[in-house]
Amino acid sequence: MKRLTLILSGLALAFLSFAQKTDNIREKVDALIKQMTLEEKVGQMTQVTMALITKGGWGNQDGSVDPVALKKAVQDYKVGSILNTTAHALSAETWRQVQTQIQDEAKNTRLKIPVIYGLDCIHGQTYTLNATLFPQSIAMAATRNPELAGTLTKIAAKELRASGVRWSFAPVLDCGRQALWSRFPETYGEDVYIGKIMGASVVRAFQEDGLKSPTAVACCIKHYLGYSAARTGKDRTPSYLPEIELREYYLPQFREAVKAGAATIMINSGDINGTPVHASKYLLTDVLRKELGFEGVIVTDWEDIIRLHTRHLVANTPRQAVVLAINAGIDMSMVPGDFSFFDLLKEAVQKGEVSMSRIDDAVRRILTLKMKLGLFDDPYPEKEATANFGKPEYQNVALDAAHEAMTLLKNENNILPLSKDKKILVAGPAAQSISALNGCWSYTWQGKDERWYPADSKTIAQTIIEKTASGNVTVIGAKGFDNPDNYDAEKIKASAAAVDIIVLCLGEDAYAESPGNTMDLALPENQLALAKAAISTGKPVVVVLAEGRPRLITGIEPQLNGILMAYWSGKKTAEAVADVLFGDYNPDGRLPFSYPRSMGEMVLYDRKHTEDVREIFNENMTWDGYHPLFPFGYGLSYTSFEYSPIQLSSNSLNATGKLTVTVNIKNTGNRDGKHTVELYTHQQYASITPCMQRLRAFKKIFLKAGESKSVSFVLDRNDLAFVNASLKTVTEAGDFDIMIGDKKTSFSYKP
Ligand code: BGC
Repeated sequence: MKRLTLILSGLALAFLSFAQKTDNIREKVDALIKQMTLEEKVGQMTQVTMALITKGGWGNQDGSVDPVALKKAVQDYKVGSILNTTAHALSAETWRQVQTQIQDEAKNTRLKIPVIYGLDCIHGQTYTLNATLFPQSIAMAATRNPELAGTLTKIAAKELRASGVRWSFAPVLDCGRQALWSRFPETYGEDVYIGKIMGASVVRAFQEDGLKSPTAVACCIKHYLGYSAARTGKDRTPSYLPEIELREYYLPQFREAVKAGAATIMINSGDINGTPVHASKYLLTDVLRKELGFEGVIVTDWEDIIRLHTRHLVANTPRQAVVLAINAGIDMSMVPGDFSFFDLLKEAVQKGEVSMSRIDDAVRRILTLKMKLGLFDDPYPEKEATANFGKPEYQNVALDAAHEAMTLLKNENNILPLSKDKKILVAGPAAQSISALNGCWSYTWQGKDERWYPADSKTIAQTIIEKTASGNVTVIGAKGFDNPDNYDAEKIKASAAAVDIIVLCLGEDAYAESPGNTMDLALPENQLALAKAAISTGKPVVVVLAEGRPRLITGIEPQLNGILMAYWSGKKTAEAVADVLFGDYNPDGRLPFSYPRSMGEMVLYDRKHTEDVREIFNENMTWDGYHPLFPFGYGLSYTSFEYSPIQLSSNSLNATGKLTVTVNIKNTGNRDGKHTVELYTHQQYASITPCMQRLRAFKKIFLKAGESKSVSFVLDRNDLAFVNASLKTVTEAGDFDIMIGDKKTSFSYKP
């Protein structure tokens, strides 16, 4: 009893102090807002790009701040936020100087409100030189390892904070269901559940130390909502989404991230069913604020308010654009190249087109964020944070993550792993590239410029040479993905005579956003021709794919002996590739998307039954509608795993109950290995056409050769839910199939 009283009073005290802290912030913010002029408030809602405060503007190369320009931004326009770099990454030290100068200037303003700076932190801290770059999200989805995603996110947070910056524009929670989309590599692939689990883990990792801590930053989940569903697959083009689809596939990741405490959110630059999301009061206020309960800051994406006038053509004047967006629920405008927003919003308020209460609401959220981040206490780069930059152990995490991302797609006659004394020809545009292993948001926006990569970054050619006895490896081609020497078919034929095997490194050089738009998902013609030349030599060919999205290889696949999907796995991609090729790492990645066979075969794994059925004529049917080159979840190992029959704690589940699902997995091969156990369900009949499969749970385990483990999952009715025709997430009574590995069983849900 005594103990219980003690625990309860402890809890009460903790709650009181939490409530007090929250109240304190609220009181302080309210007091500040009372003192603020309209201009000061509008300034807080304005975010401009670094080019407006640097010497030489957009052309600035060294991060040097122009004091006059800085004064104009902070004093005259009272801007609350600045973002981005001008051309490329800067050193952590330069960033700290920049931040110090900005906060010094903010101290000179009437109310001394600190500025919040934001940087993209996509797969590691994008814009700080020598920051550790990890696999892109698509590759992290292949690891099926949310803890690892959390571990590397904490490092990214530390390296960002060590740069004096406390706001990360990540993670991307757009669902990758359109493989053409140029931002596909930034997604967690086609599955909603993986997106939810990975996204929430990353949100927590960015923030869970407490926003004031020198090891945390505020995250920004993006790009709400439906950005990745662009019908054409081109960046920033319209999505047409019935609400049932929006709620089933695109909203849950954001709902989960809001629950995990995401501090800020960035909005989709495109439109859904004709309404630009930046002008959608329904999506911003009704769904995001009221339904999801999001209380943080809503920031636009790049220039997206003025574009309501200049691109979307839903506002007939620039001021109308501002009025639409702010009244829809936007708190901060990433203007970012001028101060027009400041003047326009001021005017709109003066004319009564935007209410002061809407302004106060936005400013309250922004100031609350700044207080939570400790910017009012001390806005300057923190010593403890600085010490967290570039620790050697971060490289190990980068290697672990790259290892776990590697997805072995083909291994005919166990051609892999290669023995280290084989004579190998290494060729292809990705063989001597660093940028094609890292992809977008790597020290520059596009990630293409290798001058900014750390000096110890390695290419695949290099790591293969390092693994093998001297003289065994011939490398042809040159640096530079597009260098014509990389596509010399005659050279590959001539050089193959003396080798045992060809390792051909193909894929995509780095790209981001619109420059990554592609007219065709097929691997470019010059790469296919190179592969055909390699195949024509009669030597075994193993292809390594360094790419951000599945480029079609159907025409060459039957003649390839091995295929390793390396994605864009960051700093340690080349090391991880060589480790897998030579068997120093046993691959365990699993595809986070369906690798399509052709542009006309873009069916996703969680398809409907009607997509499986192909009615050729009357009874003449086939059931192979889902026929990708490699299915979702595919990935080979150098060992083999056997599943026991699935055991259920009961053959029925009710509304309040739990169902324990257990399976034994045995490593039946002779190598140790990691393995992800995936649980899929299928409802046999439902009020709307059920999906054939949905991933509902997964667990990654490690099994020594010969070892067995039992893995259990506990399901409840929420794990069987779907969005019905009335747009409600429901679980309907009925029979369900449950699939794990090659095993299947069923149970009934009886509420
Ligand atoms: C991108 C965002 C990014 C912003 C700032 C935009 O073009 O869509 O994802 O955060 O730029 O760099």
